[in-house]
Amino acid sequence: MTPGRPVPPPLGKPLVVSDETAEASPAAPVAAKGMPTLAAAYGATSAESGLVPLTVARRVPKEDDVEIEIDFCGLCHSDVHATRGEWGAQSYPLVPGHEIVGRVRRVGSAVDDFVPGDLVGVGCLVDSCRECDSCLEGLEQYCERGNVGTYGVKDSWNGGAITQGGYSTSVVVDRRFVLRVPEGLDPAAAAPLLCAGITTYSPLRYFDVEEGTWWASSDLADSATWRSRSRRPWGRRWWSSPPRMPRSRRQ
Ligand SMILES: [Zn+2]
Ligand SMILES: [Zn+2]
Repeated sequence: MTPGRPVPPPLGKPLVVSDETAEASPAAPVAAKGMPTLAAAYGATSAESGLVPLTVARRVPKEDDVEIEIDFCGLCHSDVHATRGEWGAQSYPLVPGHEIVGRVRRVGSAVDDFVPGDLVGVGCLVDSCRECDSCLEGLEQYCERGNVGTYGVKDSWNGGAITQGGYSTSVVVDRRFVLRVPEGLDPAAAAPLLCAGITTYSPLRYFDVEEGTWWASSDLADSATWRSRSRRPWGRRWWSSPPRMPRSRRQ
């Protein structure tokens, strides 16, 4: 079987442990009642399988959850590394995808900032402890008790289930990790903003890059899509390597 090649036919039963059957965790909130939603997905069943059709079980929305019908998901190079097990041992099956854009399908009883039909996005994180100094500063990516990545991570806050990403038809995420996407944005074009976009934008803001500043990006795989789009809005010069751009094409 060749990595990266789609292969076998759809599998008949869910491969992913649902929240209702996941191991009990003292940190896990009380499980919501009802049946999990089954979502069609593409994921890897081993480091060598490539992406194959799967079915994943999404938890019944708890009171702070938002259920999203996924319309688009960006393809990040991290997804390739993760599914191939190139960043260490992975838990399979693994559905990648952390550049998710879609519309709210339903919300939990305590959610008052999203309503069904809203255009929303989910990036690289779906939860954190929310209590440590980093979380309280709004820096959940540095959560001192361990953030919860959008896929391939044990979700201690939701029964210990392994998170599964956006190469699927739906996802359930705590409202704190759901982003509002402006209706005026092309939702397909907006998806890469949720990983490649923010990893390019964040350092430019942090280092206060100004008009006319030359800057470089060494990561063509992840930030290339967004970087090329960012040239005109910011009007800044950019340079990349590899490949080197002919001088006449630099702006
Ligand atoms: Zn990414
Ligand atoms: Zn934390």
